[in-house]
Amino acid sequence: MSEADPVNLPQPSSRPRKPDWIRVKAPVGAAYSETRQLMRRLNLATVCEEAACPNIGECWTKKHATVMILGDVCTRACAFCNVKTGMPRKVDPLEPEHVATAAAELGLEHIVITSVDRDDLPDGGASQFVKVIEALRRNTPKTTIEILTPDFRNKADAAVEAIVAARPDVYNHNLETVPRLYPTIRPGARYYASLRLLESIKRHDPSIFTKSGIMVGLGEQRLEVHQVMDDMRSADIDFLTMGQYLQPTPKHAKVEDFVSPQVFNAYAAIARAKGFLLVAASPLTRSSYHAGDDFAKLRTAREAKLAKA
Ligand code: SF4
Repeated sequence: MSEADPVNLPQPSSRPRKPDWIRVKAPVGAAYSETRQLMRRLNLATVCEEAACPNIGECWTKKHATVMILGDVCTRACAFCNVKTGMPRKVDPLEPEHVATAAAELGLEHIVITSVDRDDLPDGGASQFVKVIEALRRNTPKTTIEILTPDFRNKADAAVEAIVAARPDVYNHNLETVPRLYPTIRPGARYYASLRLLESIKRHDPSIFTKSGIMVGLGEQRLEVHQVMDDMRSADIDFLTMGQYLQPTPKHAKVEDFVSPQVFNAYAAIARAKGFLLVAASPLTRSSYHAGDDFAKLRTAREAKLAKA
């Protein structure tokens, strides 16, 4: 799911007040500042900042940051996402080494790498993902690697083949919302193309964990969410994440509904019954929230499943 949520933006009175269950830690402290300075020094963007993620205070205090490669300007303009839209700059050839340096200096056991959409590049940016994975394997071989990619519109087959060959530990691509809402929320993307991308990862390499997420609160119906879960299971996706959509600015899609923690729990129970290896569903769940701990849980869940088989 998108990380696109505000934390410190002013709340005009026309926007509904956030409920009490959406409480976040303020971004303060030495570890937070060190993480920020490191990213500046290495000229790296993070989705934590660009998408105004509400968890940045908690995550950066633990020195967990999600690096956003291929620049900080996206070629799409999704209605939920706070990342800038426009014509991106040239790809930085030093970026892969800088990501590896960041992983080493932050002492990351598990790193999440994402990117903006780069529809302007012939490979959609896939080769930069490969270079980043290779740099991490060279420099921090013990760090497990999770990638969260765009849909590589019209280039997905070659892109997935190249990235899977580089063997990330987890491949995440978010469906973001139910198919009915794609024309307004994710107009540049196609639901079934994203689903096919996810399904193709397992076809290439069944050992890679697959992960996908959706936001709720955009006007989706419960049965539509259940159908997305079924579609994900048909594509053999291992890990489902679900979180509350929060409107980054008044120009973005409105929050239609604040989904209560109880409803998240009910969704999680249904998802588990449908056979996901792991489910993370709560108002503040984001794709990369607690990703390292969840990776350990994924491995344990797979081992337990294989032992039963
Ligand atoms: S949840 Fe992900 S995007 Fe948000 S602050 Fe944490 S690591 Fe960054």
